[in-house]
Amino acid sequence: MHFTSYIFIMTFSWTPHRFSGGALALDIANSVILRADPERRVDRLADPENWQSLPDAASTHSAERALFPVLEPVTAEDQPRLLQLREAIDAHFRGRISGRDDPLPLADLLEQLASTFRLGRPASSLLTATALSALRLLSDGNAERLKQCGHCGWLFLDRSRNRSRLWCDMAVCGNRTKAARHYRRRKETAS
Ligand SMILES: [Zn+2]
Repeated sequence: MHFTSYIFIMTFSWTPHRFSGGALALDIANSVILRADPERRVDRLADPENWQSLPDAASTHSAERALFPVLEPVTAEDQPRLLQLREAIDAHFRGRISGRDDPLPLADLLEQLASTFRLGRPASSLLTATALSALRLLSDGNAERLKQCGHCGWLFLDRSRNRSRLWCDMAVCGNRTKAARHYRRRKETAS
């Protein structure tokens, strides 16, 4: 058990799956795994090693990567700012998806965006790139494309033509859901 989790931690990498959000702001929000489950929740940015590889991975895998082909390492000063921005992004967009009409998370997000832009970091800073991505999500009028994965709870922008996506990533969460359904059906048949 301990051995398994050790291997799991050591082999973490920012795979393309971790950028299934369709927008950098949502990818950053999704750096917390199983956010709603206090027992299994994992914050990928709690590990200092994961900060090192994040900017490169984001400029390689994010759906918006054309807008920030190069991202600089996140400075120690900017790390807590990015975490604050991340929480504000998650709270506002998750609330919006679930239909909660609460203006406070929006106010908080707007304040985070304003204080980020006031810092005047370059466009190649992950902090600025994330804030700009959140601003695009706020102003795009794409509310019906914003969704929460039915399996893992990640936020994503459904860029499919008919807006029919249920999962952040069909290859991961779609298949896991199908497998679980299949397993349940087999169990029911057996009993
Ligand atoms: Zn998912």
